[in-house]
Amino acid sequence: MSFPFDDHPQAAVLTCCHIIDGSASILFVSHDEDDGMWQFLCGKAHSENEARVVSLYEIYVLDNTIAQIADLPYGYIAMRESIESNWIVRKN
Ligand SMILES: [Zn+2]
Repeated sequence: MSFPFDDHPQAAVLTCCHIIDGSASILFVSHDEDDGMWQFLCGKAHSENEARVVSLYEIYVLDNTIAQIADLPYGYIAMRESIESNWIVRKN
């Protein structure tokens, strides 16, 4: 199995405690324009203490359906209703 992202598997990405503890699915992804940082979030509002930094590989292992948006360009966001839904991609 090849890694679908151009970024290094150990690249730091931003996520939230809900994804890490398995209580929510990844429903909102941002590939930030300024620094190329990936954010994989549950789509709910968060306070700062709910943010988590993990490797891109860890996130991919948690939910390999994010391979579907591995080519998301800088400055774009992707959203979906549920883990089975199609991604809706737009410029941020
Ligand atoms: Zn969350």
